[in-house]
Amino acid sequence: MHVETAFPLSRLTTIGTGGPAAAFARPSTLAELEEAVGWATERGMEVVTVGLGSNVLASDEGVDALVLRLGGELALVATYDDALEAGGGATNAVCLHRARAAGLGGLEFACAIPGTAGGGVRMNAGAYGSDWAAILECALVVSADGSGWLDTAELGLSYRHSSLGTGQVVARVRYRLAPRPPAEIRAEVAELVARRKATQPTNKRTFGSVFKNPAGELGAGRMIELSGLKGHRIGGAVISPRHANFIENAERATSADCIALMAEARRRVREQFGVELEREVVLLGPDSAGV
Ligand SMILES: Cc1cc2nc3c(=O)[nH]c(=O)nc-3n(C[C@H](O)[C@H](O)[C@H](O)COP(=O)(O)OP(=O)(O)OC[C@H]3O[C@@H](n4cnc5c(N)ncnc54)[C@H](O)[C@@H]3O)c2cc1C
Repeated sequence: MHVETAFPLSRLTTIGTGGPAAAFARPSTLAELEEAVGWATERGMEVVTVGLGSNVLASDEGVDALVLRLGGELALVATYDDALEAGGGATNAVCLHRARAAGLGGLEFACAIPGTAGGGVRMNAGAYGSDWAAILECALVVSADGSGWLDTAELGLSYRHSSLGTGQVVARVRYRLAPRPPAEIRAEVAELVARRKATQPTNKRTFGSVFKNPAGELGAGRMIELSGLKGHRIGGAVISPRHANFIENAERATSADCIALMAEARRRVREQFGVELEREVVLLGPDSAGV
């Protein structure tokens, strides 16, 4: 297994910010993944897996951990009858493409979620009334304690949440899908992508939703917008003028810029609505007070 040191996390995140990972490896088989986890455990290091980095904000100071990005066999996709099996590093786009080719529906909701199978499980990602919990049958999870398949109850999936902790790596997933004509899948995906483009900053560097939507009528984005923060800029980061629950990297933003914007959004929403916004994006590295 090849381990790189001081690997820039800005290359692994869609927002394009983040300092160095103390150690970085790209396991491409289950054996290599287990070896990597063992390597970190022997050194007392944390293991952090990054998928497409589409819902993470990595500290500018870096992350004192072994950071993994799964590739090779751990990113392959295959279909069997009404099931689709994917490596934890397989992208949603490839899974959706393979499902459509096999005439299997159920993954359409994920067409605008730019992540991987493993990241989807960890976040219980979702959109348009569906989520990972609705299609996932089980996931193969590797950790310092060993490897085993967990079902959705064991994974503790709820709104944008799973019970997976740092150090638990999703190596494979099995989705239960349903027969659907490819033309219908294509038409629904085209419609969902068009809806997305009309409302969200799809052509900017972001990390997806900043905050979870609280219970109640107003979404996080609407409350931030009503607090007057659309377009608000700190350093190189800006609250998206298109959708206020996104932060865009306008120009050489740092993670600190994003965190300052998040703290300001939370403060203003607390003052105006008495609501405590809960972070959806995952912070990697030293946690920042107040966000
Ligand atoms: C433009 C845009 C639109 C988005 N739209 C949506 C949306 O509609 N709905 C939604 O839910 N999300 C959305 N997101 C957020 C994001 O795409 C999802 O949360 C996605 O599932 C994250 O997957 P990822 O592979 O990029 O994970 P990452 O962002 O790399 O990681 C997220 C978390 O998962 C962990 N993780 C990643 N891979 C693994 C693995 N193999 N095993 C264990 N843990 C792992 C990471 O350690 C981290 O804690 C959007 C993001 C962007 C940039």
